[in-house]
Amino acid sequence: MANVYFSKELNKIIDNIDFSKLGNNVAIKLHFGEMGCVTYLSPKLVKKVYDKVISLGKKATLIECNVLYKGSRTNKKDHIATAIAHGFDFSPIDILDGDLGKDEIDVSLNSGILKSVKLGAGIKNYDSMIVLTHFKGHLDAGYGGAFKNIGMGLGSRAGKLEMHASTKPFVAINKCTACKTCIKNCNYSAITIDNENKKAKIDSDKCVGCAMCIAVCPHGAAQIPWGSSSHELVCKKIVDYSRGVLKIIPNTIYINFLLNITKDCDCFDTIQEPLTKDIGILYSNDIVAIDSTSLNLVNEKSNGEFEKINDIDKTMQIKYAESCKMGQIKYKLINLD
Ligand code: SF4
Ligand code: SF4
Repeated sequence: MANVYFSKELNKIIDNIDFSKLGNNVAIKLHFGEMGCVTYLSPKLVKKVYDKVISLGKKATLIECNVLYKGSRTNKKDHIATAIAHGFDFSPIDILDGDLGKDEIDVSLNSGILKSVKLGAGIKNYDSMIVLTHFKGHLDAGYGGAFKNIGMGLGSRAGKLEMHASTKPFVAINKCTACKTCIKNCNYSAITIDNENKKAKIDSDKCVGCAMCIAVCPHGAAQIPWGSSSHELVCKKIVDYSRGVLKIIPNTIYINFLLNITKDCDCFDTIQEPLTKDIGILYSNDIVAIDSTSLNLVNEKSNGEFEKINDIDKTMQIKYAESCKMGQIKYKLINLD
């Protein structure tokens, strides 16, 4: 049974963590929030953790990877501008998969659904990590916790496509202007202009799923085949990606913030109302236990409302992760208040 610590105050959580076990080059993983979202993790809370690490003479950097879809965090320049606009201006920021999400490393796995995962290449520059997670619902994975934060979050653009979809991107004919931007940026010669309708067409045999066409299409015509994968497969792939992340940085601690708990994730560019009152903050060294505890507390405090949202079995991530020996679903909750 793994220990999970609870407090309503971040200071008590920070005082309980043994930061000396971290290395000298600490990555702090969080989600900066899509432009338009207001319920992302507060920069004031993140700064407290950052200041603590710096006070110990260690280097700390806020890390993320670019997103799969078109938005305010699709490329490095816009991503950093969004982070700064959201108040994360007190720390270096490292977008691990580079300017356009192309910089990636392959990490092999010995078991599971995936044989290897594609992560933002910059991950190899860090010796330890603190994962700060805004816990909330998620349309495709049921909930967004620590697994979603590092698994989906640190996948390169191609990695994110691999997790979300089981088929290749497609072109929405009604949006395509045949500008050929995607053709110029596809390194695999997988896109041509169709002779009949004069629109872009993707050859799924040549396409390797790098997702570059999605990032560069100025009209949002190159699209992600949302829904082409089952929720169960998405959840298991997120966990496999998390395994890849922890293979590179095993020295990792987790803090889940059960605050502003919304139905959907912080990738939505809309204002969302929380589903339930703020609960508090959790800390653990066990990624399975911290998400397991979070799910139970949020279900309990929302009178079961959280369990009903998105109509997805929210235990799929933690059950699969426990079967992969990543941690324990059973936990001992220690109240620091
Ligand atoms: S970049 Fe977009 S709009 Fe231009 S040809 Fe490709 S799919 Fe069509
Ligand atoms: S996903 Fe990559 S390989 Fe496939 S068509 Fe788009 S740019 Fe080309």
